[in-house]
Amino acid sequence: LSPVPRRPIRELPDELISQIAAGEVVERPASVVRELVDNALDSGASQVTVRLLAGGVRLIAVEDDGCGIAREELPLALRRHATSKIASLGDLESVGTMGFRGEALAAIASVSELGLLSRTASQPSAFLLDSRSGELRPAARATGTSVEVKELFFSTPARRKFLKSDATELAHCIEAVRRHALARPDVGFAVWHEGKLLEQWRAGTPEQRLADVLGHDFIEQSVTLAYAAGPIRITGRAGVPDVARSRADQQFAYVNGRFVRDKVLAHAVRSAYEDVLHGQRQPVYVLHIEIDPARVDVNVHPTKIEVRFRDSREVHQAVRRAVENALAAPRAGGPAAPAL
Ligand code: ADP
Ligand code: MG
Repeated sequence: LSPVPRRPIRELPDELISQIAAGEVVERPASVVRELVDNALDSGASQVTVRLLAGGVRLIAVEDDGCGIAREELPLALRRHATSKIASLGDLESVGTMGFRGEALAAIASVSELGLLSRTASQPSAFLLDSRSGELRPAARATGTSVEVKELFFSTPARRKFLKSDATELAHCIEAVRRHALARPDVGFAVWHEGKLLEQWRAGTPEQRLADVLGHDFIEQSVTLAYAAGPIRITGRAGVPDVARSRADQQFAYVNGRFVRDKVLAHAVRSAYEDVLHGQRQPVYVLHIEIDPARVDVNVHPTKIEVRFRDSREVHQAVRRAVENALAAPRAGGPAAPAL
C-alpha cells in the first residue's frame, strides 16, 4: 500500500459550492422549469408562461405576474441560502410555500447564464440582473418576474453529456408544467417551444383543468375522491380499471399542493385496485392529500420530490380507503348498481 499524501483541508470557493449543490437540484432542463414555476407560484402569480428553445437546453424562460422582487433584493435572490419564505425553524415546520431552501436560483445560476428581470408593484420600472457580469440595470416590464436561463451546463460538460435529445428534454419540461397545472387550476399556464404555443391551460375549475390536462375522456372514465379521516383530507380523481395503462405515466400525487413521488402513496392506491386491476396494469389517478404540515417532513430531499410522513400507516390507510370507496360507489351516469 502506497502512503496517501496528506493534503491540507481547504474551504471551497462559493462558486464551486454552488456547482456541487446544483448537481442535486438541477439534473436537466425540466428541473429548472420545476424550480422556476415553483417560484412563480410562490410569488402569487395568476399566469405563468414558459418559453423553451431546444428542449430547454438553449433557453428556459419563465414569466409570471406575481409580486416581483425589489431592485435591492435582486442580487440576494441569487445568493445561496437566501430566501424570503422562512426565517426560523418554526417556519420550516409549517412551511406553506413550494420553496424555502433558498438554493434554486443560486444553483441554476452556477451552471448557466441567468437573467433575472423583475418589478414590484411600487417600483416605477423593472430591473434586470445578469448573473455572469453582476450588472444591474433598468428595463421594461409589468409587475412580476421573468427568469431567463441560457446555455444550461455550458460550464459543466460532464453534466451536459447526460442530456438526452431535445425532444426528450422537451417532454420532461412539459411534464413538469403539467404537474404544476394539475395542482393549481386557479392559475393559467402556457408552454412555448421554438416560438410555437404547445400547451395552454386557462385558469378555471379543478374539473376543467383535469379535462384540459388529462383529456375529456378521463373525466368520464374516473371517479371523484372525497375522503377525510382525522388530520387527513383526500380529494382528486381515480380512473376506472378500464383506463389503466401499461405504464405508470398518469399518476399524480400531491401532498399539500406539492407533487411527490412516494412509495407509501403508490402502494396504497395500488392496493385499492387490487381486486379490479390485474397483471402489471397501472391505474390513472390524481390524488391530492391535505395534511397538517406538522405531520409531514418536506425537507428530505433537495428537490422536495420525496416526503416523510410522521405516521405513514395512517396515510396509507386513508388513501387506500379513499380510492376503494370511490371505486365501489355507483358512478353518476354509469350503469346503476345491481339491486339486491
Ligand atoms: P426559495 O424559493 O427556496 O426561497 P430560490 O433560490 O428559488 O429559493 O429563490 C430565492 C428568492 O428569490 C425567493 O425566496 C424569492 O424571494 C425570490 N424569488 C425567486 N423567484 C421569484 C419570483 N418568480 N417572483 C418573486 N420572487 C422570486
Ligand atoms: Mg424556489
